[in-house]
Amino acid sequence: MTNLNWNNLGFSYRKTNTILCSWFKDGQWSPVESRKDDNLTINAFAGSLHYSVECFEGLKAFRGKDGKIRLFRPEENALRIQRSADFLGIPAPDTELFISMCKQIVRENEDFLPPYGSHASMYLRPTLIGFNPQLGVKSSTECLFMMLCSPVGAYTGGALEPCNAVIARDYDRAAPFGSGSYKVGANYAVSLYSYNKAHALGYQAVLYLDPLTHTKIDEFGSSNFFGIKGNSYITPKSDSILPSITNKSLIEVAKSIGMTVERRDVEVSELATFEEVGECGTAVVITPVSFIDDKPSLESDEKTRYTFYSDKECGPKSLKLYNIITGIQYGEIEDTFGWTEFVD
Ligand SMILES: *Cc1c(COP(=O)(O)O)cnc(C)c1O
Repeated sequence: MTNLNWNNLGFSYRKTNTILCSWFKDGQWSPVESRKDDNLTINAFAGSLHYSVECFEGLKAFRGKDGKIRLFRPEENALRIQRSADFLGIPAPDTELFISMCKQIVRENEDFLPPYGSHASMYLRPTLIGFNPQLGVKSSTECLFMMLCSPVGAYTGGALEPCNAVIARDYDRAAPFGSGSYKVGANYAVSLYSYNKAHALGYQAVLYLDPLTHTKIDEFGSSNFFGIKGNSYITPKSDSILPSITNKSLIEVAKSIGMTVERRDVEVSELATFEEVGECGTAVVITPVSFIDDKPSLESDEKTRYTFYSDKECGPKSLKLYNIITGIQYGEIEDTFGWTEFVD
């Protein structure tokens, strides 16, 4: 057994028992190899190291109230990595291989799966990289698909602590008609500079606008945006947004409890009318946002501040949605959506 303290896990690398690897070569995926060593041998000329031939996923495994282990919508992650791989022109694991590796990594690292009640979970990081040596710019022909995991925390006691964000009008995370809707590492490389700068100024997140007109909200650096107004759940529609599985789930949950869902353009000025605003993604499901500063440039002293529900707690509508999703994930609420995949 591990001697981890489940209460202060945060979101960081922890050595677990194993990682899983499968190599694509000569038209097929190799048998899955389970490795105790996280260090890999890779050719220095591999395309992933030079041209970002890389895409990844993020999903979680939960220890339920009934003791059973649940994965949340892994098929959606499989389909999404297949779409990202297609964009990069590389082979992707099929859905069956993807899900079986998700289950295997959880089984092999079950002693790192946080117990029910800790509000923690196990984060899975499926990763696909170009592996063959190459010099020319082209899609890799040989790839390595890895299934990695790490136990991660949640906000203590499930209390959702609000964060702040900044609209940095002098930076984009994605180009118009570019890679914004694919889960590729390259998008993150592009966002680091503005994130670091915003962070140094005291902001916890960066909210990016649509890169073509800079008038509409796209998403945060690593999570989608939603706003709540009256009985409506409002989230942007844009081709440069990563299609979040959490957002997709929140939309279905919102509809199921009689909320109106609007997926449409969201002008920046509309921020003034939202009662609650949140970030959504696998890592924490929902992070309430307390305020957003709109700045013409990050260096500028000029700003328009939009404030939302509270800087201390999550708004009631966001909390209701959060409780339903996490309730399904921990097996506290019946999953009427069919989102649960059990790990036997
Ligand atoms: C992964 C990711 C999200 C969240 O997606 P989920 O499927 O909900 O985890 C949102 N935005 C970006 C840029 C992402 O990479």
